[in-house]
Amino acid sequence: MNATETSLARPLAAPYTDGLRDGVLRYQQCSACGGAQTLARYACQYCGQRTAMPWRDAADTATVRAVTEVSRAPSDEFRALAPYTLVIVQLDEGPRLMAHAASGVQIGQRVRAGFFEHHGRTLVRFDPMV
Ligand SMILES: [Zn+2]
Repeated sequence: MNATETSLARPLAAPYTDGLRDGVLRYQQCSACGGAQTLARYACQYCGQRTAMPWRDAADTATVRAVTEVSRAPSDEFRALAPYTLVIVQLDEGPRLMAHAASGVQIGQRVRAGFFEHHGRTLVRFDPMV
């Protein structure tokens, strides 16, 4: 099976979404340059190679880089959660990720990933490390 057949058989992000369901946060790491990235991409965002972007399990620990409070949900799906906190965190492995977070988290704070079910999807929520 070549890479094209694989991508046609399963969504590119399947290793990520499968991981969430199992309580594991995953990221891609380039086999050529070692660059680590979140979101499912066909090519390395650092060196551009497209042949080997294996998925790795993250340690689930991160540092908060940005925080926003959402008071008006963008869709009916999220209205029940509002108000809620969104963060951009930097995983200890390097790549950044947007996710939910506990209310009151601060930029620079150390956090750990947790998971919750919402409308049939598993979402990530970061809580402060104690
Ligand atoms: Zn690369």
